[in-house]
Amino acid sequence: VDIKKLVKKNILNITPYIAGKPIEETKREMGLKAVIKLASNENPLGPSPEAAQAVRNSVLTMNRYPDSNSFYLKRKIASGLELNAANIVLGNGSDELIDIIIRTFVEDDENIVTADITFLEYEIISAVYGRRVKKVPLTDFKYNLRAIRKNIDRKTKLVFMANPNNPTGTYVNKCGLEEFLRGLPGHVILVLDEAYDTFIDTRDYPRGLEYITKNNIIVLKTFSKAYGLAGLRIGYAVAKTGFTKYMEKVRQPFNVNLLAQEAAKAALDDNSFLRRTRKTILEGKKYLYRSLEQMKLRYVPSVTNFILIDVGKGSLGVFKDMLKLGVIIRDMRQYGLSNFIRVTVGTPKENRKFIAALKKVL
Ligand code: PMP
Repeated sequence: VDIKKLVKKNILNITPYIAGKPIEETKREMGLKAVIKLASNENPLGPSPEAAQAVRNSVLTMNRYPDSNSFYLKRKIASGLELNAANIVLGNGSDELIDIIIRTFVEDDENIVTADITFLEYEIISAVYGRRVKKVPLTDFKYNLRAIRKNIDRKTKLVFMANPNNPTGTYVNKCGLEEFLRGLPGHVILVLDEAYDTFIDTRDYPRGLEYITKNNIIVLKTFSKAYGLAGLRIGYAVAKTGFTKYMEKVRQPFNVNLLAQEAAKAALDDNSFLRRTRKTILEGKKYLYRSLEQMKLRYVPSVTNFILIDVGKGSLGVFKDMLKLGVIIRDMRQYGLSNFIRVTVGTPKENRKFIAALKKVL
């Protein structure tokens, strides 16, 4: 038998998500001792120390199932946001929440609208469920909200908007979002993915939480970036209970593991780590901007912890040459930006190593 005939048709043509290359793998393949990874927008300072301690303290309880309702964590997140626990749905990273949202809301014949270029998981997970995705080109590396509005039809159920956007580092401002919301039909839910909101340093950024009571909005947050917990896999959605109660039915009962719950609870109190992280990113970004300007390289100004850079030649070659020098970055071919790389802001030492390597390679 042709095995392919046993696989669902919509799965056959999916291009899988390409994750950042792991440090250990690069050391092994390149025979290098010192490798830095600036490829997945992780926190370069490590995990929140409070979170790390909480994990150590709870390791010996992992023979037990996690609390299926994450009672304490939900309560803590909710009280910080002046909402109720029932407004929070936790996920195995915000990736899983994207999956839960599509399964909860989108019928077979309904479609999803997002940008082209944005976080690839919106499209990939939609494809897994055989849902049609309309991708609306960016203008000037930004979401084009008017064009997105024009692509919404009677069968559109979800709009995915990464704000700020990955991989461009740009954002939709308050005016733009509010105008978009005024024109958004009642049968459409806007998913505002705020994975990088902690790094914002501009005043006109719209905080999605301010809009969730009046609008059909689900806000996504993650502990992977600012809190340094990418490896534990935990994120959450915030929305009216009208939405969250159905998402709760769809999620697996133990989707968020016990150590992640403990770590996230502790991380929420670790304000000094958050301050240190923000400072590292904002200062590192200034250094990187200055260096790129000296090298006469074009980049997209970013409100996040990563920068999209036009290297003026094939990014796969640049990626491979950088690997040989022990620097893992992201080549942007999968996003259709074949002359661009994306680099995550690291520690000062990592940023210097990146710039030195990039100079050599170019
Ligand atoms: N949304 C965006 C825009 C992202 O860039 C990422 C991480 N690459 C995620 C969601 C997923 O984050 P996580 O699953 O680690 O919470």
